[in-house]
Amino acid sequence: MKTLAERAGSIRPSPTLAIDAKAKAMKASGIDVVGFGVGEPDFDTPEHIKEAGIKAIRDGHTKYMAVPGIDPLKDAIIAKLKRDNGLDYARNEIIVSCGAKHSLYNVAQALYGPGDEVLIPAPYWVSYPDQVMLNGATPVIVPTREEDRFAISAEQLERYITPRTKALILNSPSNPTGLAYDRGVFEAVAALAVKHDFYVVSDEIYEKLVYDGFQHISIASLGPEIKARTFVINGVSKSHAMTGWRMGYTAGPANVIKAMSDIQSQSTSNVCSITQMASIAALNGPEDFLKGMLAEFDKRRRYMVERLNKMPGVSCLMPVGAFYAFPNVSALYGKMYGKSAGGRKINSSADMAAYLLEDANVALVHGEAFGDDRFIRLSYATSMENIEKGLNRIEQALARLA
Ligand SMILES: *Cc1c(COP(=O)(O)O)cnc(C)c1O
Repeated sequence: MKTLAERAGSIRPSPTLAIDAKAKAMKASGIDVVGFGVGEPDFDTPEHIKEAGIKAIRDGHTKYMAVPGIDPLKDAIIAKLKRDNGLDYARNEIIVSCGAKHSLYNVAQALYGPGDEVLIPAPYWVSYPDQVMLNGATPVIVPTREEDRFAISAEQLERYITPRTKALILNSPSNPTGLAYDRGVFEAVAALAVKHDFYVVSDEIYEKLVYDGFQHISIASLGPEIKARTFVINGVSKSHAMTGWRMGYTAGPANVIKAMSDIQSQSTSNVCSITQMASIAALNGPEDFLKGMLAEFDKRRRYMVERLNKMPGVSCLMPVGAFYAFPNVSALYGKMYGKSAGGRKINSSADMAAYLLEDANVALVHGEAFGDDRFIRLSYATSMENIEKGLNRIEQALARLA
């Protein structure tokens, strides 16, 4: 028998989706699992967007469309980038793809190849290194420090830059840490990108989910030189509770956008026609629903982080964006559980996640999947009732460790 291609052999399935699947399977078998694993808003898509989707079907928008997105949607994206980010783009600098994950993948296909190095600050979103490797390039992980609120420093970043550095992937606000960059760090990083001439891939999917008055800025807005090297990635999944619709977009230099469009024309073709019509309504429509969603996330964020910090051996920074808590649980490593059953030691974030799933029936993601084994990630995109119940269970399970 012939075997898989080398890239298929080395790819890891998305660990967050895998944990979600395991929790759902436990639930289906009758176990009362509290899910903190998911990375999607628990809110419904706003009514006016759903109606636009239904109308699209009724109006017969059910055929192939332009591969990089239809003009009215590109125009809605262009208006959004101007309104929210102060950025000017033309239609040939925009491409619509099947979710921001697909946007990132198309950038990877168009830019990265064997011999290229791509800088990825850790903790990172799970798909970044694998998308780099799928295209034969090398992910170069740049560690950050909890004491610096997980922000890379330009001095440290510069040590990882080589003549092979093709791009840097930034994610602010960040999944998993919930922390975000301020202007000062971005200015220093932008200066490095210009000086050493590499691209910046800026994943801004959590732009709208920010708290405590935090002001999101796009690194592309810091000047024409950095804008010419930046790909702004965004979408409607998180901001408009539209994860299932699959719409993301990229704004960037026209020559690369053209290459991405050519690649997309040989893989997925256009994004679903109904989704494109609904996304126009999402981007051009009112954003008042966002206020309610944010107020609810904010309440859960404070509750979850305060409770985690009260648990012995657990410490958690207060996130300013997204919907995740990322506590450090490494002080508990070395402790034992299940003494009567022979006893097992918790040595890693994977051990901790497995213990909490099996013993407390709480699903969450081990930090190792995000490039830092000292942490675990809990999503608060679930009801307050679930959060209370899940945290009670975690508290009790951790207290049983000896
Ligand atoms: C959810 C997420 C995405 C992708 O979202 P899509 O549903 O593919 O639009 C991209 N980046 C990060 C960091 C995310 O958490």
